[in-house]
Amino acid sequence: MRAAPPPLASAPTPLSRLLGIALDALREGAEVRGGPLPAGGPRAVAERVRAAVGEALPDTGTGAGEALRTLVRVLAEGAADPAHPLCAAHLHTPPLALAAAADLAASALNPSLDSWDQAPAASALEAEVTTALAAEVFPAADRPDALVTTGGTESNQLALLLARERHGAVRLVAGANAHHSLRRAAWLLGLPEPITVPTPGGVLEPAALTEALTGCPGPVLVAATAGTTDEGLIDPLPALADVCAAHGADLHVDAAYGGPVLFSRTHRHLLAGLDRARTVTVDLHKLGWQPAAAGLLAVRDPADLTALGHTADYLNAGDDTDAGLPDLLGRSLRTTRRPDVLKAAVTLRALGRAGLGDLVDRCVEQAQHLADLVEKAPGLDLRARPVLTTVLLRPAGADDTAVAGLRRTLLTEGRAVLGRATADGRLWLKATLLNPHTTPDDLARLVALVEGSTPR
Ligand SMILES: *Cc1c(COP(=O)(O)O)cnc(C)c1O
Repeated sequence: MRAAPPPLASAPTPLSRLLGIALDALREGAEVRGGPLPAGGPRAVAERVRAAVGEALPDTGTGAGEALRTLVRVLAEGAADPAHPLCAAHLHTPPLALAAAADLAASALNPSLDSWDQAPAASALEAEVTTALAAEVFPAADRPDALVTTGGTESNQLALLLARERHGAVRLVAGANAHHSLRRAAWLLGLPEPITVPTPGGVLEPAALTEALTGCPGPVLVAATAGTTDEGLIDPLPALADVCAAHGADLHVDAAYGGPVLFSRTHRHLLAGLDRARTVTVDLHKLGWQPAAAGLLAVRDPADLTALGHTADYLNAGDDTDAGLPDLLGRSLRTTRRPDVLKAAVTLRALGRAGLGDLVDRCVEQAQHLADLVEKAPGLDLRARPVLTTVLLRPAGADDTAVAGLRRTLLTEGRAVLGRATADGRLWLKATLLNPHTTPDDLARLVALVEGSTPR
């Protein structure tokens, strides 16, 4: 007789038992790792994974408990752990426990947001949350809306697509500081060659934008950035919006990184002018502390979204829609779509604006403190006082090769995960602080580590 198939996620007792195994394996793996990332570099990590996996598709399975324990453990052991205070490269966030728990519930229920009959409550929840978040971005707009995306890349793509649907072959004009996904989206959509405006100071200057737009043929979408990837800077949004208005160009703001600063009473003034954009990208898997994916594209004028309308008879037949079944297919280019909104909804409700704003404030304060420490360290140079949570530093007098080598040494020794950024014609180490639990002592350790590893 054949054994029964493995239990489904809807069966609470097996799920809870397996969850216990997964949590134990996460803890054990992290203990073995002992630091922000595994020591030994790519080859050593790959060998440990290969040894643990053995055959990835065995003829006969090992059973749920063993498979979960073995693979979760090896993944945790070999993880770059964003919850470790010395893991501070990239906009790689330590997810909140409550968001991860909500994401588990989303996985267990598995609603799919491509049709109402697969997601009755999830689609209603998504509508509530996206309406609220769109109003946060566009407080004065009539009925702003937001789409849930997989992140800034997809949001930027959609923004360019919506601009193309408004104007035809629209040309992207963006600073050299803009995220690479924008130029890729222009390529993907077959748009005219984008214009890249030099940003030697790290932000898109209104005068430089004016020069780029003057005499620029055809319709234009200007993309500004609130929270640049390399330096965490915010383009001067009100002045750029003025330039766009004077030239009849649409403005998109990529606030994938900086957008959640809207939750902070103390710092939201940094985003003045954001609501003058036509579309705004916001990620909640950066400053927002969600497990990936949790992206948004906020849209000031909901009429822009009609361009995404699409009918597939099995998902949103006209008579179903006429009879009152919500039509969801126009809210994404994806078909099967996870309810990523659940974890965000739980987080917004649990923490409120004040709680989220406090997390933003903590990370901004940490960046200021780290900058203080770097300024005081005789062996280190600071690129500039931070605006958001990104601090660029480098050993004084080191050349770019030494800086790049230092970063790789810290990585392969498993001691710290720092990013890299070119600014001012030089290579810098980049600390992107997104962990609200990081302490001043942790930051002092980070500075000591960079100073101590400084090649002479
Ligand atoms: C992170 C980031 C992106 C890309 O977002 P993903 O969520 O990684 O797709 C785009 N723009 C900016 C400014 C970002 O910080």
